[in-house]
Amino acid sequence: MIRMVAATNNSHKLEELRRILTPMGFEVLSLSEAGVDVHPDETAETFTGNAQIKAQAVFERCGLPTIADDSGLCVEALDGRPGVHSARYGGEGLSDAQRVARLLEEMRETPKDRRGAKFVCAVCCFLDRNTVLECVGECEGTVGYEPVGEGGFGYDPVFMVGGRSYSQLSGEEKDALSHRGRALNNLRDILAPYLARKAMA
Ligand code: IMP
Repeated sequence: MIRMVAATNNSHKLEELRRILTPMGFEVLSLSEAGVDVHPDETAETFTGNAQIKAQAVFERCGLPTIADDSGLCVEALDGRPGVHSARYGGEGLSDAQRVARLLEEMRETPKDRRGAKFVCAVCCFLDRNTVLECVGECEGTVGYEPVGEGGFGYDPVFMVGGRSYSQLSGEEKDALSHRGRALNNLRDILAPYLARKAMA
């Protein structure tokens, strides 16, 4: 198993990263398990830029292979918002349910054919100082009219794919089609040559 620190303070993301990366052969450490306490400002205006900021900040502290994910929901009728600001949409201190309510309220008048949206996930992985891998995954869907389902986090209850919300999918079903699952699948492809080289060393 290759140890990899997950540069996130979001326990749901950590759970998903573990679920997907463990079968790929990684032991995913949380920030506390790695003994790192950093909260870098996500100042970039792109998902990729923010993933880099988070991965680099943690890698520089602990020197272990580090992975960061920056993700969010881009809604067509809102010109791509909340996008990179998804975690803070509506203001600091709101619960996930309050952010979802805020989104539904903002889209109250939005007709069915304008409710298209996509989740985007950018992943940045520092294997060592000179080896930084990046990839992106997306999942297209629509914003529903009310929260449905019990599972997941964030905007899961209103993000609809194929007639169900992300919240209604099992973990495995979500990973198979989600923005994060797709980004990490892409990462697996670009990681393969590095892992093969390491195995030979
Ligand atoms: P950040 O990447 O930490 O800046 O935050 C991403 C935000 O996007 C989260 O706080 C959620 O609100 C939202 N988000 C990202 N991925 C998901 C997901 O898989 N389901 C639901 N919401 C998500």
